[in-house]
Amino acid sequence: MNTTSLDVVAASLCRIMGIEAPAKAAAPSPAMLEYADTVFEGAAADRVLMYNPDAIGQWIFEKYPTLFKEAVARTELQLPLRSPMPSVTPVCFASMYSGLQPEEHGIQKYEKPTLQAETVFDTAIRAGKKVAIVAYHTCTISKIFRERDMEYFTYGTLEEVHAKVAELIINDTYDLIVVHAWNYDSVMHKFGPESVEALSEARVNSEAYALLDALVQTYWTKHNVFMGFAMDHGCHEIGGDCGSHGLDMPEDLNIVHLYKAYKKKIGG
Ligand SMILES: [Zn+2]
Repeated sequence: MNTTSLDVVAASLCRIMGIEAPAKAAAPSPAMLEYADTVFEGAAADRVLMYNPDAIGQWIFEKYPTLFKEAVARTELQLPLRSPMPSVTPVCFASMYSGLQPEEHGIQKYEKPTLQAETVFDTAIRAGKKVAIVAYHTCTISKIFRERDMEYFTYGTLEEVHAKVAELIINDTYDLIVVHAWNYDSVMHKFGPESVEALSEARVNSEAYALLDALVQTYWTKHNVFMGFAMDHGCHEIGGDCGSHGLDMPEDLNIVHLYKAYKKKIGG
């Protein structure tokens, strides 16, 4: 089982952006800070793009490397992490963006209340940053981080989500953009984690991330950029050729985040 909890991400992103971490957030990941410090030469990131593909476990990532070759080609730091329990979407995203364990942030089962705990979004807004979430209408990320002074762009299809993120990168007005890609998760539940239906959805995420990366390299050259391909939890196969997650097992808890930083080009 991976030893570093997913909760390190919140304080890491804040430190990398040069802003306060959420209250009582777990200590940042030394690997993330060291990597960002090396690329930015001690400066902060002024653009962060988090692409969150749902439910792609470490075992899927490692067993099918060709499906992730586009994302891996755009990665300089691979960070193995352990999802909190129960390993379901609202619990995990609440930990990822608050830096707290479930008993501290309050979402301890599959439910989507507005998270009361302080998050990366709150400290970013307080620091004057513009924040956007781009997600499915009713998904966790579009629900649990509501009631904050930020933009929520929600759609019914993944294509619209990707198109909106592309537009936001080109327009270059948001400092922190979080994207939820739910496609692998929803197909995995129905057909199983290793079905051709689910695996082809994982490939969609890798290719979309590569496209967004290409836009970042074209339109965000004036910025120090930190970006990630960052899962919430893994998954396992259950009877009837279906998939599930939520249990205390390596397939559900072990994930790998892929990170990349781009230093701004002088005069760019
Ligand atoms: Zn999930």
